[in-house]
Amino acid sequence: MGGTFNPIHTGHLALAEWVREHQELDEVWFVPTGSSYLKDPRQILPGRERLYMTALAIGDNPFFRCLDLEVLRGGKTYSYETLEQLKHCHPQDTFYFIVGADCLFTIEKWKHPERIFQNCILAAAVRGDVSMGDMEAKKRELEQKFSMTGLKILLIPFLPFPVSSTDIRCRIRQGHSIRYLVPERVITYIQEKGYYREENELFEKN
Ligand code: ATP
Ligand code: MG
Repeated sequence: MGGTFNPIHTGHLALAEWVREHQELDEVWFVPTGSSYLKDPRQILPGRERLYMTALAIGDNPFFRCLDLEVLRGGKTYSYETLEQLKHCHPQDTFYFIVGADCLFTIEKWKHPERIFQNCILAAAVRGDVSMGDMEAKKRELEQKFSMTGLKILLIPFLPFPVSSTDIRCRIRQGHSIRYLVPERVITYIQEKGYYREENELFEKN
């Protein structure tokens, strides 16, 4: 499961646990991005900090791991490179790329989507924000368009979890509580460091 995780929140964790159980996965590997070419870098904490918060958040789940390969790679990171690297190191394993519904509608615009699809099954969570009908139509369209890659998409029903990192950062700036939205240990760390108090204070330096 890739993400900016800026910061990680309970929506990410609940989604990962849900898909793990639903698909009987051995483990879920969280992969914080290096610098995302799709997001405003002034709003994003350095990769090692997002990686550290992710490690704090998943520490008590024996099925969860986090990987530093995108953060260490430096420069812009692309999911196709990560999946190729993972598949190269673990050729016998089947990878499921866990994404929220929003990603199903943007993924074909990512760099080399065909090289993403060649190396994983896409597990997309269906939430309240997008209807199952729209997701099924998009799944059919993508599977047809990328049939030469062997693309397989799973649509996994998931409860709406109305939390996003953008909301979390906004709540911190406004001085509101983020309790129960972010794991306690991550909240403590964010408070200690004074992160996310000002808009555009953060500069991505990997
Ligand atoms: P931002 O608001 O900065 O975009 P985000 O909360 O969407 O952050 P990301 O790190 O961009 O978090 O997301 C990583 C993955 O988690 C994506 O596949 C996204 O669709 C999924 N995701 C994020 N929030 C939720 C949620 N509340 N429920 C289910 N999936 C989610
Ligand atoms: Mg997002």
